[in-house]
Amino acid sequence: MPARSAPESIPSTEILNTLGEFIASPPDGTPPEVVEALARMGGNSADPLPPLLFFEAVEQSPIAISITDAQAIILYANRAFEELTGYTRDEVLGHNESLLSNNATPTNIYQQLWRTIQARQTWSGTLVNRTKWGGDYLAELIITPVIDRDGELKYFLGMHRDVTKVHALEGALHQQKARLETVLDAAPVIVALLDSAGRVILDNQEYKRLLGELQGREPAEVLRAALGEQLGLDPFVACLEQGRAFKNIEVSLDIRGQSSTRWFACSLNPVDESDASARSYFGESMPGERRLLLLANDITSRRREIERAHLENLRARLAEQQLMHGMREALAAAVYQIQVPLNVIQAASGMLRDGVGHPEILATLLDQINESGIKALATLTAALPEETREAGVRVNVNKLLRQVLELETQRLLADGIVVDWRPATLLPELNGHKNQLRAMFKHLIDNAIQALRESGRANRELVLTTRPLDRGVEVEIQDNGRGIASEDRYRVFEPFHIGWRDRRGRSGMGLALSQEIVNAHGGSIEVDPDFTGGCLMRLSLNAVFADD
Ligand code: FAD
Repeated sequence: MPARSAPESIPSTEILNTLGEFIASPPDGTPPEVVEALARMGGNSADPLPPLLFFEAVEQSPIAISITDAQAIILYANRAFEELTGYTRDEVLGHNESLLSNNATPTNIYQQLWRTIQARQTWSGTLVNRTKWGGDYLAELIITPVIDRDGELKYFLGMHRDVTKVHALEGALHQQKARLETVLDAAPVIVALLDSAGRVILDNQEYKRLLGELQGREPAEVLRAALGEQLGLDPFVACLEQGRAFKNIEVSLDIRGQSSTRWFACSLNPVDESDASARSYFGESMPGERRLLLLANDITSRRREIERAHLENLRARLAEQQLMHGMREALAAAVYQIQVPLNVIQAASGMLRDGVGHPEILATLLDQINESGIKALATLTAALPEETREAGVRVNVNKLLRQVLELETQRLLADGIVVDWRPATLLPELNGHKNQLRAMFKHLIDNAIQALRESGRANRELVLTTRPLDRGVEVEIQDNGRGIASEDRYRVFEPFHIGWRDRRGRSGMGLALSQEIVNAHGGSIEVDPDFTGGCLMRLSLNAVFADD
């Protein structure tokens, strides 16, 4: 096949004029087909688009264009083709388009390509091409069959462009998506992105796990119903229509087949997507679709822990009440019994004063006093509460303090106390008595609340700090309340010392018992003498504890 070069440029006006003259009065004997062909090439004055203009348009197009015969032998290639492939026209004309193949495109693609174009249809697809210099590029190619006047398929028109960068971008996008999914799946929180109709469009492994547990019921819908019940409104509608966000709303679910209730802390956030319509390309954008991000954290174990602490606290209070009741009864009996020897003593002393006390009678009276005194003593001894023995376990002081704070939340809120909780990030576990320590911390925090209340201050602060020590932990309970006078610094730890203005319900034994508990844990407790902004109670507990 002879190589054909493209004309350099549009023929000059001169040539067109000469052509016009020739067509206007062709020499005798000129075949009419020749006149028609030339007339078509030159066009006429009434036709503003001469055919050569179409050729130039193709020639100057920025897309690589080639025309082949029916066997894909290249008959024409434009400038962009030369630039993209690196081949000059002379190097490709007369050669098959396979010249561009880098042999990485699967054969079935070519087979499908050929089936399509031979069926006189347009084929479009992507092939891996190689330039003259050996560099690979992805060619997005469109091949259109060109049918001649007689209805024969004689040529193919191929148009292709380099889409390597687009492919790289798509790859990066897929990678980014895969990374995002990995992160979401690793998160120990239920995550779901919902569209404006409440349908799940993205979720993670935790969400799928709950879906399995709910035996196919959509977790988003189940949580929506539970949240609706809790809030008294449909949170999805409020979030999607009014853009409202909800944070850490705790709901419970009773899941079929599971013996205990599950608890979730749920958050909802509206997510406004950017406008992806064509109109937004130059900046003018419409509001994009609003999505809803649902996060749910399984807090069942934390709830159970709090419930357990509540129960333990209740139980302890009940036991305390029962103990008090028993002691009151025993003391009342002892008071009654003590009355007897007192009466006898009174009678004996009267007799002695009047000088009528016969030694025999006095001895009998003393015996009676002794006897009823022993009885009263026995009653009092029986009323003494037995010390409860609690086994030593590993104790996390941070956890214990957090539990106590949870228990005290209502009181702290009611008194307008701001809690500044400063736990040590790493705290060694102690071998200790959990209930004793919990009761002690509760007592110390109760004291701080009382001190703040009696101070009448507007800004009430409670600072709780924990620190690791060499062989234990240090705890500070600091309030900006009424403080403890320096002369009372040691007396407050004495039994029955009550320094409160409001003495109701106080026995004056709390700090004495606290000191006993701290000592039993190998530590010490003191009121910081240098702290003047209220009261700073500092105590240490040792990690090594001799279990009794
Ligand atoms: P081949 O053995 O030539 O072909 C592989 C398979 O393709 C064959 O098994 C057969 O099923 C089918 N096939 C090939 N030629 C014919 C035919 N004449 N009739 C029927 N079926 C046939 N290829 C590229 O790699 N890059 C391009 O940019 C490119 N552009 C093209 C543009 C046009 C306009 C046309 C018509 C074709 C183009 N081709 C292009 C396809 C090219 O002609 C080759 O078919 C392809 O490169 C495979 O060549 P090959 O030598 O690797 O395998």
